[in-house]
Amino acid sequence: MGGAVGELERVALMGVPIDPVDMTGAVDRVFDWAGKERGDECRFVVTPNVNHLVMLEHHVGLRDAYLHASLVVVDGAPLVWSAALLGVSLPGRVAGSDLVPGLFAAARDRGPITTYLLGAAPGVAETAAVKIRGRFPGVEVVGTYSPPMGFEHDPEENARILSRIDAARPDLLVVGLGAPKQEVWVDQHRHEIAAKVALCVGATIDFLAEVQPRAPVWMRSVGLEWAFRVAREPGRLTKRYLRDGWRFPGLLLRAMRGRRAP
Ligand code: UDP
Repeated sequence: MGGAVGELERVALMGVPIDPVDMTGAVDRVFDWAGKERGDECRFVVTPNVNHLVMLEHHVGLRDAYLHASLVVVDGAPLVWSAALLGVSLPGRVAGSDLVPGLFAAARDRGPITTYLLGAAPGVAETAAVKIRGRFPGVEVVGTYSPPMGFEHDPEENARILSRIDAARPDLLVVGLGAPKQEVWVDQHRHEIAAKVALCVGATIDFLAEVQPRAPVWMRSVGLEWAFRVAREPGRLTKRYLRDGWRFPGLLLRAMRGRRAP
């Protein structure tokens, strides 16, 4: 279901199709879809960062998800800089963890909307639901669920998750299962997910619950959010960022050479 919905054409950044919209444009599009009938499948949003670009080199399931996504917005500042180096025009960064509160805030005037929170450790989504109810008038949290480890390989558990979502029929499904699991799961089940739009947004439920702090605004604006996250969770994230920091410059160089080639 990819492709622009009658708005700006997609641009290609290092082989990845991107919707060149800013936060306002992304919020408008998601609200537009949330106000319509669901159609044959759940539309979904992916938010590429350096880690996704490195994985897209070899991960077929993630590539498929990117092909089917309805909205692709750039999450990481390094990708905005890479776009500038490559002469690809992007209006800026739309991080998933900013897009979700942006949508919830907009529901005050444009809502009401319903949402279901899928992912994060047990108990975290419930805490996020309480905070959302206090912070965002116009948003109704109609369900939360933290799937057990390895759920994606268990057909019965998958059916249970889908039937819980079906019972709640949310406008927005916030999916925080980490990449590439969240993108692949949503893509594989997009015909069965009874939500209008799914947002694949990593640690956003942790941020909404305030069990993890976001990096300070100045760090985000100079592209250092990754450093803040590594300092908070070195055990889990150091290997990821080292590997990506090693591979990404090669991908960027290849794209720059490709651009210069006749
Ligand atoms: N997570 C989960 N189930 C899993 C794997 C991860 O609910 O099987 C959650 C985890 O608790 C965290 C989020 O997924 O809330 C992913 O965080 P991560 O930092 O990896 O996301 P990203 O860096 O992609 O934003």
